[in-house]
Amino acid sequence: MRGKTRALSRLILATIGAVICVSVAGWLLYNSAKQVSDSRDALERSQSVLYDLQQQSQRLDRIESNLQLYLLTRDEADLRSSHSAVVAFYSGALHLEQQVADNAAQLPHAQNLEKQASLLLKSVDSFTQSSPLPSQELFACRDVVGIMQAAEHELLSRRTDATRFTGSRILLISLGFTGLSMIVILVLFGLLLRDALHRRRYEERLFEANEKLGGTIRALERQARESDLLTAARDELQLCMNSSQAQHSAARYLAQLLPGTSGGICLINESRQLIEVDATWNNTTALQDGFAPDACCGLRSGRMRWRRPGQSEVHCEHFAGKPPENYLCLPLVAHGETLGMVYVECGSAGIAAMVDANLRALQQMVELASIRIAGLNLSTILEHQSIRDGLTNLFNRRFMEIALDRELRRARRHHKPLAVLMLDIDHFKQLNDTYGHEAGDLVLREVAAVMREAVRAEDTICRYGGEEFVAILPELAINDALARAESIRNRVSELRLYHRGEPLREITISIGIAVYPQNGESLDELLSLADRALYEAKHLGRNRVVLAENVGSAPADRSQMIAY
Ligand code: GH3
Ligand code: MG
Ligand code: MG
Repeated sequence: MRGKTRALSRLILATIGAVICVSVAGWLLYNSAKQVSDSRDALERSQSVLYDLQQQSQRLDRIESNLQLYLLTRDEADLRSSHSAVVAFYSGALHLEQQVADNAAQLPHAQNLEKQASLLLKSVDSFTQSSPLPSQELFACRDVVGIMQAAEHELLSRRTDATRFTGSRILLISLGFTGLSMIVILVLFGLLLRDALHRRRYEERLFEANEKLGGTIRALERQARESDLLTAARDELQLCMNSSQAQHSAARYLAQLLPGTSGGICLINESRQLIEVDATWNNTTALQDGFAPDACCGLRSGRMRWRRPGQSEVHCEHFAGKPPENYLCLPLVAHGETLGMVYVECGSAGIAAMVDANLRALQQMVELASIRIAGLNLSTILEHQSIRDGLTNLFNRRFMEIALDRELRRARRHHKPLAVLMLDIDHFKQLNDTYGHEAGDLVLREVAAVMREAVRAEDTICRYGGEEFVAILPELAINDALARAESIRNRVSELRLYHRGEPLREITISIGIAVYPQNGESLDELLSLADRALYEAKHLGRNRVVLAENVGSAPADRSQMIAY
């Protein structure tokens, strides 16, 4: 701002200087022109005076010659000619006096000439045949005319010199003025040019600052959008109940974060031998569904990896057809464990550049997804562990109680029956003792598998403890429950098992059945009745099914049952 004010004041000063120079030069030129004009007038006047003096001299000659002729010829005409010549001479003298009125040097001579002319006029007026020639008056007049001619010649010469000098001065002033004008114009032009350059530089800086500001605003807007997307993704991922839901949710947000791309989220399966594609976005076509972990360069290197021309040309091997030109593979890692990878396919180098610009947000989103997926996997495992029995993979006793309570409520609400089966492997201790504990475990697993297959999807089978199981069969009345129990018993008895190549003895089970609402109303009551029926089955010789309603009202002695 200060620089701009200084430049403006310099410009004003230069303009004032230029105006003064031009005014002075104009004034000098005007003066010189006036002097030239005056000199020219003076020269013309001198020439006119000289011309008149020449005339006067000729008149004097004519007066003298006419007077001489008159004396010789006595011709009055000559006298008259002489008289008119002297009259002309006198008027000429008067005229000359007027002409040199402003010339102090010539004026006295002119006045003298007028006086001498008047004397001559008198002499000629009174001239007769007897008069002598007025030689004295003629001489005096000639003398004055000669003096005046000499003086006027000198004046003419001086005036000519003065005119020449004035001309040279005008030339010099013109040249000086032209030079000065050029300098002033150059100075003004220089100042204007400098000002224009300053303004241009200022505008360039302003443009750069504007560009930077625009870039910052765009970056801030992008960051705000990314931040909103990340927050929304985090919230939605928290709502997901399982890994597959989380993958689909992450894929949706990745599609929003990276418009124009396609891709997929791929997880390593339980055997850790295969990568399976679960969630994709924008119909990625190239990716193969199911591939070995080392087919991906990114997974092999354990780092994010771009495949694009001029950067890294090697292709991954997880493509069904021709691999695309630009793609990105990011390992999905949580708590130090690799869960899988995120594949991002870019249709062009421009889209790849856009992905590069959003890399930070992409990595954050992938990190969010991996942490959530790992968390969900862990909770699935924990949940599995907390409700399932590790050996048989059946529900455990705790879950059975919850499930039975829930099914009982439902049966009550819908006025439907509910059958509870209590199952126990016969002489299992003996089997353990004969074939070993490992064989016992095998039998437990196989019996569990048979039971699982023998019931419907809505039925629940639990390991009640040791080699005892409970089956909850909703909406089964006594007869159906009995049939289902017989079916299970038959299937178990048909099992032919081998342990370490050695055939195991036949496996049989005993089953007790209690049915809601006929036999009992509450959970404890039903379990107790089924247990008593089972005890009865053991008592009756095992490998059989007994209904609670067929058991006597005396409470069963569990310790006695165990003794069997
Ligand atoms: P009963 O016909 O009267 O039911 O006789 P039993 O031998 O089956 O009954 P008992 O209750 O005397 O024996 C149960 C045995 O089951 C005792 C225990 O060693 C065995 N057992 C319990 N849990 C497991 C297990 O997880 N694995 C193995 N191998 N054996 C188990
Ligand atoms: Mg048993
Ligand atoms: Mg038992």
